[in-house]
Amino acid sequence: MNFKNDKINEECGIFGGYSPQKNIAPYIKCALLKLQHRGQEAAGISCGNNFQKVVKDCGLVNSALENFLIKELEGNFGIGHVRYSTFGDDRKENIQPLKITYMGEDVSLAHNGNVSQAKKIRERFERLGEVFLSSSDSEVMLKTLIFSLKKKPSLWTFDEVAKCLKKNFSLGAYCILLYLPNRILAFRDNFGYRPLMFAKCKEGYFVASEDVAFYGLNADEIIEIKPAEGIEITGEGYQIKSFATPKEIRQCVFEQIYFSSSASNVFYKNVYETRVRLGEILFNSVDNNFTADVAIPVMDSGLGCAIGYSQASKIPFHLGLIRNNWMERSFIQPNQDKRSFNVKQKFIPIKSVINGKKIVLIDDSLVRGTTSSEIIKMLRKCGAKEVHMRSVSPKIINTCLWGVDIPTKTELISFGKTDGQIASLIGADSVKFLPPEMLSKVFEGNVWCKKCFKEDKNEVFLP
Ligand code: AMP
Repeated sequence: MNFKNDKINEECGIFGGYSPQKNIAPYIKCALLKLQHRGQEAAGISCGNNFQKVVKDCGLVNSALENFLIKELEGNFGIGHVRYSTFGDDRKENIQPLKITYMGEDVSLAHNGNVSQAKKIRERFERLGEVFLSSSDSEVMLKTLIFSLKKKPSLWTFDEVAKCLKKNFSLGAYCILLYLPNRILAFRDNFGYRPLMFAKCKEGYFVASEDVAFYGLNADEIIEIKPAEGIEITGEGYQIKSFATPKEIRQCVFEQIYFSSSASNVFYKNVYETRVRLGEILFNSVDNNFTADVAIPVMDSGLGCAIGYSQASKIPFHLGLIRNNWMERSFIQPNQDKRSFNVKQKFIPIKSVINGKKIVLIDDSLVRGTTSSEIIKMLRKCGAKEVHMRSVSPKIINTCLWGVDIPTKTELISFGKTDGQIASLIGADSVKFLPPEMLSKVFEGNVWCKKCFKEDKNEVFLP
């Protein structure tokens, strides 16, 4: 266990809502399975009507929320969460939804984001003698709501909750679901860093991190909740309201590049199409005269990218690596040995595709370089003649405060290094990245957060 950092709610997935005819718990479980890529460390559901019951545990959705446990959940309202923790803080108390009882009424909260003010607020509370049961931002948010509103949760209005979030967490990135007695409230922060979708379905009204969660439901309408908007869902219906005027929109490009499912439409764009387009642009901008025997994707997020690159370059596309989907995402493992071990477990090479070939290997991004260097070793072992690494994301040279787990600058393989230096570090014959200025061909306008590709001019690098 490691409590180095309290940024623990980052790239999670949330789902919740109301189902009039039926018990909502199986719908939530199915949706969380479709959001599993957003967090594989823990999963939970809070469900009920007047009283809320929570089932949550470590692990993938199917093991944390086994069917016999889901059968014990009843009720028309509920929220669920899949968790991605970034610094190995694996305390069970941090698993969401977080439920508390206040003035005899239950409230549950599920959160995707990172609220930077939480640390200061927690310290203020602690100086007043308040005790926290977890190290999560979510508990700070819940306590802040309780202290500000100081009345039964059934009396909390949309406007009061929104005002409190705005006042205390306006610098943060949050998509938050609150399950109050017979009501669900959902909010997307002012900057709109993370996506939040709503679906009006035959089965009920639902809110989710990505619209992929709604597949399998009979949706009449799917809409994106805009930055600084929220929704209130009751047994009578739903209402979407804005609670502020967004000053600056900062949609995270990594939701499109890496984090969201290829099947999702995030920030009004289909994720698969974005990745294909990035692959095409990468070839056209940096590799025009380059050729190879085969273009191989690093699955899953590299798949669309490699298809686009192959289409633009006419280099044949092949699956040279099969991905074992039952392994957790390697990136989140707490140390380098474990991360390398995980990459080796996750990818299985197809020797006949690789042997004797000049390969162009395409991934969405290089962060620490663990995935690429382990895969390149594998390809060489299988007889690859040459391996050329390509990333559809520009070089990641800056950390992220807003919910994408990008480690300290010194851990970033691209920070302060040339393409040639990176190639020799990961064992590739060459490495190329999308030039940052090309991003605007896909991510138009000034509504995107691209901070991770930019240098902080005022900072001095101390090795
Ligand atoms: P690394 O192995 O550290 O170079 O990380 C790059 C790999 O992790 C790529 O295969 C990406 O698909 C994936 N990845 C990129 N960004 C992230 C992120 N913020 N969190 C988790 N995984 C990521």
